Amino acid sequence: MYLYNSATHKKEEFKTHTPGHVEMYTCGPTVYHFAHIGNLRSYIMEDVLEKYLRYAGYDVNRVMNITDVGHLTSDADEGEDKMLKGARREHKTVMEIAQFYTDAFFADCEKLNIKRPDTVQPATGLIEDYIRIVSTLIDKGYAYLAGGNVYFDTSKLSRYYIFNDHNEDDLAVGVREGVEEDTNKKNKNDFVLWFTKSKFEDQALKWDSPWGVGYPGWHIECSGISMKYNGEYLDLHCGGVDNAFPHHTNEIAQSESYLGHPWCSHWCHVAHLNTEGGKMSKSKGEFLTVSLLEEKGYDPIVYRFFCLQSHYRKALVFSWENLDNAVVAFNKLVAKIAALKPDDGAVDEAVLREYKDKFNTQMGNDLNSSMGVTALYDALKAKTNDATKLAIIGDFDTVLSLDLLKKAAAKREETAKAAATQTAGGYTVTGEGDPAIDALVMARYEAKKAKNFAEADRIRDELKAQGIEIVDAKDGATWKRV
Ligand code: AMP
Ligand code: ZN
Repeated sequence: MYLYNSATHKKEEFKTHTPGHVEMYTCGPTVYHFAHIGNLRSYIMEDVLEKYLRYAGYDVNRVMNITDVGHLTSDADEGEDKMLKGARREHKTVMEIAQFYTDAFFADCEKLNIKRPDTVQPATGLIEDYIRIVSTLIDKGYAYLAGGNVYFDTSKLSRYYIFNDHNEDDLAVGVREGVEEDTNKKNKNDFVLWFTKSKFEDQALKWDSPWGVGYPGWHIECSGISMKYNGEYLDLHCGGVDNAFPHHTNEIAQSESYLGHPWCSHWCHVAHLNTEGGKMSKSKGEFLTVSLLEEKGYDPIVYRFFCLQSHYRKALVFSWENLDNAVVAFNKLVAKIAALKPDDGAVDEAVLREYKDKFNTQMGNDLNSSMGVTALYDALKAKTNDATKLAIIGDFDTVLSLDLLKKAAAKREETAKAAATQTAGGYTVTGEGDPAIDALVMARYEAKKAKNFAEADRIRDELKAQGIEIVDAKDGATWKRV
């Protein structure tokens, strides 16, 4: 597979530490509020990436954190605790908030066919690991104590910036106007590994540590969780593009300093979903969630389809009009698949292989999911029987996860029901889509018309034995299973 690597700024052949095996880590949600559909764009694309890697034959171990402590409202180390803010807003404890929004996050993921990672670890569960890493960083001279907090000393690194090529003079990045600088820091980009003192003394969750009672910084959780479940060599780290700096930059700094060797070889960042008005936010404008999509009558899978139609490295603009266009395209696609006949012969394995290879190459080219979607239309046009076309589509859908065969089968059934209305001589039979039953009901009508009442009764009894109830009407009958 070829995948763009944000750390080297180029598309590269994807190589793993252990051949055939991928250790994958993705930054999980901060669980103080519902995820917005922008956050979920990142998780959809990461899900496609994981499923593609499995499709391509890799064995994948995927790990994700749940940020239930330590992520501040500001990207700098100052600001309010997001979790505490959520708890205050809803008059709940921080842990209640975390559990509620973790469950809500996975419920959204399920609706979008996003697979749950192999390991999901809440940040609060590994405090001992962070303390061990921070202690080692202090021992190795990479971290210092100041004003009660432990800071990472970025001046100890030969290279700090990884994802953007700016230099030390551009330190304005990540430091916002109006944000007071932390005077404990030796260097502007130093970041907190462990807090005992912060602007918000009423931090709810605290643990004992060699440096006093406090709590971990946000960045250390991802390093700690990944090292525990992925091991010392990480093949692939993903997240939204806003995570590249400072979060991922700091993860690299502390992990490599702790381990003493390179840590993660491949970094993948998903570009943002924006609204027409600009950046998507949980606080301003319409709060776009999966529930809102459902309330407005959209199938969440259509949102997944909408995301797959564009490349993960390109910013995507969300509007209701754009989503409506996706609905039209998706429904047409499902209708075309539903029109295929599932039992029109055996699957042509050679054709299936040919299409699989093509799909593999397209998706393996920096996860070109829009080409992956186009491949579905190509399969529909393939010079082969319907059974093979359906096999190809089902195969691609193990990666795309659009429920195409399931939705097409439902559509087929719906059509069969509509078509179940049989008319003969002005007599109409409406049933539940079983032509054999329709025929029996029609035969009963014919028998009655011919005054063969014994036969008509026999048919009625036969239908009754099958659990079929007939309701006679003026010009026909309706039947249903009871
Ligand atoms: P958070 O819950 O804020 O930590 O964010 C969860 C994930 O969503 C992270 O990987 C973010 O980088 C990503 N993310 C945040 N905003 C957007 C957006 N507008 N579009 C795509 N991904 C986003
Ligand atoms: Zn992270």
